[in-house]
Amino acid sequence: MNARRRSVAVRLGTVTVGGDAPISVQSMTKTDTRDVAATSRQVQALARAGCHIVRLAVPDMEAAAALAAIRAVSPVPLVADIHFDHRLALAAIDAGVDGLRLNPGNIRRREHLEKVVARAKEREIPIRIGVNAGSLPVDCRPDETVPERMVALGEEQVHALEAMDFGLIKVSLKASDVPTTIEAYSLMARRIPYPLHVGVTEAGPPPTGIVRNALGIGILLHMGIGDTLRVSLSGEPLDEVDAGREILRSLGLAAAMPNVVSCPTCGRTRLDVPAIATRVSEYLRGIDIPLTIAIMGCVVNGPGECREADAGIAGGDDKVLVYRGGEFTHSAPADQAYEAIIAEIDALVAAGGRHRGQNTR
Ligand code: SF4
Repeated sequence: MNARRRSVAVRLGTVTVGGDAPISVQSMTKTDTRDVAATSRQVQALARAGCHIVRLAVPDMEAAAALAAIRAVSPVPLVADIHFDHRLALAAIDAGVDGLRLNPGNIRRREHLEKVVARAKEREIPIRIGVNAGSLPVDCRPDETVPERMVALGEEQVHALEAMDFGLIKVSLKASDVPTTIEAYSLMARRIPYPLHVGVTEAGPPPTGIVRNALGIGILLHMGIGDTLRVSLSGEPLDEVDAGREILRSLGLAAAMPNVVSCPTCGRTRLDVPAIATRVSEYLRGIDIPLTIAIMGCVVNGPGECREADAGIAGGDDKVLVYRGGEFTHSAPADQAYEAIIAEIDALVAAGGRHRGQNTR
């Protein structure tokens, strides 16, 4: 794994992006922003799931007007996604958002852009420039590759902000295919000092979208590129957060996160492993403790994995074997397998992540 590219740090409310700050996970609400109650609920659910920064679409003044109430109950920084209308950006800043996603080239009149930049500077609100391969201008140089065109456009937008003496910049360069995404970020990483928001856009529903993002984001992070990420999915925003956190955990970049180990099941299975593992993963959402929980279908490989875990269950005949701290402790009725492992997780969480005095692998 390459050393992380060193970028300048910017702050969005309580979260620092870039520098040596942990790589943050972002998502975007999929509710109508004008619906304050529904959007606030989704922001709070995302925060509980471990999302560090939430973006909201602001398509009109009614949505901008809703931002203050949503911000008031949000436990995490909010970013307003603005296109074309500088008045929406000004209203979002006044509503208390922590960041803007706005392309300077989308604001036609320079004096309007200057107003937004001046207000963002005054409030110390970063602006993310987002270049999307799907919306490159048609008058680009034909001899340039798509990644080169993306980088050229991104630099142009960066320079537009720098020319206004504004440096609270983040940049994303997203494409819907993995090689283009990797190439664009790799080129840009050498050209600007600002934090990079990485992701593969319009990647589709799970599992396709998760695979594409895991590859694109995972390869970039392995190259040391990326300060904050979003897994874009045609699906539930909580799945975006789960996938983003799992990418970080899989690369050893998440400070503290539970890990569910579950077997693929086979003809020996004595436990509904997929259902229990899914429910357990959902139960563990947002718990930032480095637990390893094993859900295993039988006693062939089950005891071995359970001994390596902080807690685990393995299917037996009409019963489930329960392990704690690497040791077999008791058996429970097979139809209470989920409850048995949840009781162990609750005890682990109450003890701060480990069963005291026992195996601490
Ligand atoms: S642990 Fe048992 S049930 Fe699961 S895959 Fe291995 S042999 Fe099959």
